[in-house]
This record gives sequence, C-alpha cells and structure tokens, in this order.
Amino acid sequence: MNFEIVLATNNAHKLKEVREILSPHKITVYGLGDLPIRQEEPEETADSYYGNALIKAQAVAKLTTLPVIADDSGLEIEAMNNQPGLHSARYASEHGGHTNAIQEILKNVKDNRKARFICDIVLLNVEDKPLLFEGIAEGSIGEKPFGEGGFGYDPIFIEKDLNKTYAEMSQEEKNKVSHRGRALKKLLVYLKITGKAK
Ligand code: IMP
Repeated sequence: MNFEIVLATNNAHKLKEVREILSPHKITVYGLGDLPIRQEEPEETADSYYGNALIKAQAVAKLTTLPVIADDSGLEIEAMNNQPGLHSARYASEHGGHTNAIQEILKNVKDNRKARFICDIVLLNVEDKPLLFEGIAEGSIGEKPFGEGGFGYDPIFIEKDLNKTYAEMSQEEKNKVSHRGRALKKLLVYLKITGKAK
C-alpha cells in the first residue's frame, strides 16, 4: 500500500514538484484541494522558515490524522542583506506580483550577484515531535530574466551546478538541484529508513 501524505499548500506548482519527487517511491501526495478540508493558508508570523512551515503544517494537522508536510521557502540575495528571504511572498505581493518584484531586484543587484534559495519542510503526525528537512540551493541573480518555465523568482535565479535559471530547467532538472528538491530528498531518506517509502 502507498504511504499517504498531505501537502499543506494551495500552491499548484509546489504540489506538482512534490508529487513528481515522491510518487515514484510509493507515496501518494494529497493537496488541500484533494481532501474534504477547507483551509486558507494561515498567516506566516514566525521569524524563521522552520517556524512558518510549522504554522502551516499545524493548521492542517488539526484537521487530519494523515501525515502532513508543509514547506516554507525564500530567496536570499547577498547584496540586499539576504532579503527578500523570509518575506519573499510578501515582497512579490507588495510589488504587484513576481514580474515587478523581479525588476525591483534587478535594480538593486549590481556587482555582487550571489543568492541562495532555502526550503524548510516540516513533517507532522508521524513522530511525537515535528521533523525538519532543509534544502539549500546556491546560485546567483541573472542580469535579466531567462526562461519560460517554473514560477515565482525562477527566471532570475541561476543555480550554481547546472548554471542556468530555474525557469530554463526541465521539471526533472529543477527537482534534482532545487532547494525544495534537496529538502525532499532528505525527507525521502527518512521515509525509506523508517520503511514508509520504497
Ligand atoms: P512560501 O514558501 O509559500 O512562503 O513562498 C515563498 C516565496 O518564494 C514565494 O513568493 C514563492 O513564489 C517564492 N518561491 C518559493 N519557491 C520558489 C521556487 O522554487 N521558485 C521561485 N520562487 C519560489
């Protein structure tokens, strides 16, 4: 039987990425829309990625006995004192969407283009305490947006190993090197050694 897990998100892009990585390992990933639970995403009021992921996971873990995962992620840009970081989603909405936010970032970033994406995934309803899996992708901010794929800040984040933006990558490539892919790989190791995944 497949191991079933709920991803506490309404973001269809995230759900797609998580499904692609986990489903080959006999894990069924439900999004909030797949279950008879109505859930607005709660306010992210913590001062860490872990804290915000925990808030999102706890809101859903109250409503189901299934294992729940939630992720919180952000783009840290060295030349901007590691902003937008924890506030990456808010930064985009304050600028009227990611396209404008990207233009604002390009104005702010000149010589030092170093950046990284961070993803914290919290797993609840499996052990008697929350479990954290963290993934970091190092890279830089491109001179302008490149690529058509992906979402959010993908067109300006050049990942170090593949040396192209997330938006220029196939989903398979992005999953291999991305912050979320790296965090999910750690989750998978845990699920395999505890016999929950194949
Ligand atoms: P949250 O984790 O849902 O709070 O999202 C954080 C912010 O980072 C959002 O604005 C996302 O669009 C952005 N973000 C998170 N992951 C990615 C990604 O893989 N590519 C591009 N932007 C991302």
